[in-house]
Order: sequence, then C-alpha cells, then structure tokens
Amino acid sequence: MESTVAQRLEAIHNLQLIDSKLDAILKVRGALPEEVQDLEDEIAGYETRLQKFNSEIESFEDSIKALKESIKDSEKLIKKYQEQQMNVRNNREYDAITKELELQDLEIQVAKKKIAEAGLKIDQKKHDLNELNEVMKDRQKDLDQKKNELSTIVAESENEEGKLNAEREKAVKKIEERLLKSYAKIRENAKNGLAVVMVKRGACGGCFNTVPPQRQADIREKKKLIVCEHCGRILAGVEDEIEEEPTPKKKRTSRSA
Ligand SMILES: [Zn+2]
Repeated sequence: MESTVAQRLEAIHNLQLIDSKLDAILKVRGALPEEVQDLEDEIAGYETRLQKFNSEIESFEDSIKALKESIKDSEKLIKKYQEQQMNVRNNREYDAITKELELQDLEIQVAKKKIAEAGLKIDQKKHDLNELNEVMKDRQKDLDQKKNELSTIVAESENEEGKLNAEREKAVKKIEERLLKSYAKIRENAKNGLAVVMVKRGACGGCFNTVPPQRQADIREKKKLIVCEHCGRILAGVEDEIEEEPTPKKKRTSRSA
C-alpha cells in the first residue's frame, strides 16, 4: 500500500518522538552502564592474574616437595655408604665411598639452597597476591555500588522503556526501509539524536538556522520530503506559533486564528 508523503512524515516523526524519549531514559543512566562493564572487565583481568599467581605458587611448592624427596634419598644413600665404609677391605674402597658421600652431601646442600630460593619466591608471590586481592576488593566494592545505582535507575524506567520499545517496534513497521536507513544515519550524526524536527519560529528545530518562507510553504504542503539545507534533518512540518501572553507594555491586539 502506497502511503502519502504526509503519512510518511507523520510516521517518521512519531518514531523520532519515541526515540527521543528512549534517549532521555538512556541519558539518565549516563556513563554507568559503561563504567560497570569496564569494572567487570578489570576484575576479570585480576582474576586471571590471581589464577596465574596461584599456579606459580603451586609449581614452586611442587618443586620444594621434589627437592625434599631427593634430600631424603641422599640421606638414605649416605646412611648406606657409611655402613659400607665400616666394612671396607682397603683404602681404595674407602676413598671411593668417601667421594660418594661427599657427592651426596653436595646434592643435599644444592637442594636446600633451591628450597630456600623457592620459598622466597613463594613469599614474594603471596605478597603480590595479597596486594592484588586488596585492589580487587576495592574494585569489587566500586562495582557493587555502581551496579546498585544502575539497577535502581533501570528499575525506575524499566516499564516506560518496555512500553516505548513496543511502540517503537510498531512505529518502525509503518516506515519503508530506505527512509529508516536515512533516519538512522542522520540520527547517528546528530549530537542531540534528532533526525526529524519541526520548523519553529521560522527556524529548523535541529540546527536553528532560518528556513526561508517559500521552503516553509513547501513543507506545509507535504508534497515531498524536505530536509534542512543546513543540517540535513528531515523537516516534518511547521509548528504554528503559539499566541503568547500579552505583555503589559503592549496593547492587546486582536488577532485572527
Ligand atoms: Zn537544520
């Protein structure tokens, strides 16, 4: 079904009114949704680092365990060698066992040194981990607070937002694809989110530049879609000037409607 220009203008203007209301709702939420997202990302990053620290600590602990085992093995060998040394038949055997004993003793010393080093590394990691935990707790507090704020604000406008979105869905169906696309494009480029405006007091309601009288007349006719020459916004109509309260200075003049 073909719709007239007037109908198309009415439909797109209706969509603009709905979108402006939705914009106002989102504006109240401000940067909160983004801030919540940023904090969530930040905390997720900390959690990854925390896991890394924990697995590093674990691997140091594992190596300490292994080193302690090897010390036990060396001690067993030493005991065995010492017993053998009691029963040597000559000096050559005695010297050979002495060398083995020295070697195992050295192994124990190296292992002990490595255990001490790993212990220091674990302490350092645990220190870093605690610091990270503190930072995380702080951020989590921020996040909880911001989430609360946001959910309060969202709760206040949830119903209205739902209604507007439903209205929007209906409104969009009445507008052809091509017009919707240019509407979206104009809106994207407009700071105030206005793609469809009225001419008010002889000026574009979007950029406030004057709209020449002849153009205003064309807009009133609604024979074709007319956009503002300055900002490109769709001009949906000309708002008739509302009669102002008579000021005390002026004498009241009778005007025809
Ligand atoms: Zn304009």
